[in-house]
Amino acid sequence: GKRAFIAGIADDNGYGWAIAKSLAAAGAEILVGTWVPALNIFETSLRRGKFDQSRVLPDGSLMEIKKVYPLDAVFDTPDDVPEDVKANKRYAGSSNWTVQEAAECVRQDFGSIDILVHSLANGPEARTLSETVLQELYSVLPDGRSSDIFSHFLPIMNPGGASISLTYIASERIIPGYGGGMSSAKAALESDTRVLAFEAGRKQNIRVNTISAGPLGSRAAKAIGF
Ligand code: NAD
Repeated sequence: GKRAFIAGIADDNGYGWAIAKSLAAAGAEILVGTWVPALNIFETSLRRGKFDQSRVLPDGSLMEIKKVYPLDAVFDTPDDVPEDVKANKRYAGSSNWTVQEAAECVRQDFGSIDILVHSLANGPEARTLSETVLQELYSVLPDGRSSDIFSHFLPIMNPGGASISLTYIASERIIPGYGGGMSSAKAALESDTRVLAFEAGRKQNIRVNTISAGPLGSRAAKAIGF
């Protein structure tokens, strides 16, 4: 069977969850990367059965998440993490959550993956944390960092594998309200996708695609008023 790592699941409402379910239904083993401040509530909800109804697959079985990894895609390596974030209690309780470390943990645990899904949204989470020190962190947009995520995960991807991310039409047309760096982050994501598809395709026989998704009432979409 194939093994998939899906970065960007913290509840059962978003694209990441839906993609995980499709992959699970097709027989893939599911690993998840969850934003560090959301990790506790996600794991607790999972354990307490809060998502059980949404875990039902077409054959009636429940999607199994083999392992949940803490992840903050804003940070490449431990050296990139400022002291105030390290000390923040929502981060201090977890470890190995930079992109490089998360990829290394997956490698240690499972050796390799076949499928990488990048389903990270920008800033909106920060709005819910606006009274904390975390806010300024999100001037850096995880969307625009897809190439760093790929570069750390590609080495653990099996030849013939595939990676996808989610983009949005606002990269090429004006969508009122989709500003503040979000539209340009999507334009960067699409541009990175083309370059990565060329490079990863040649070097490792890995497909890299991005899907321009329609509107979905996810947490991220609601947070920006969509
Ligand atoms: P979502 O809120 O379900 O998913 C976004 C996830 O990114 C959340 O789990 C959040 O915790 C995580 N995240 C944010 N910052 C992070 C960071 N620094 N490190 C790690 N994780 C982080 O929302 P969604 O709408 O399903 O978003 C998934 C993707 O789909 C995004 O790229 C989004 O832009 C794209 N998309 C969404 C829509 C829509 O209408 N919902 C339309 C087109 C594209």
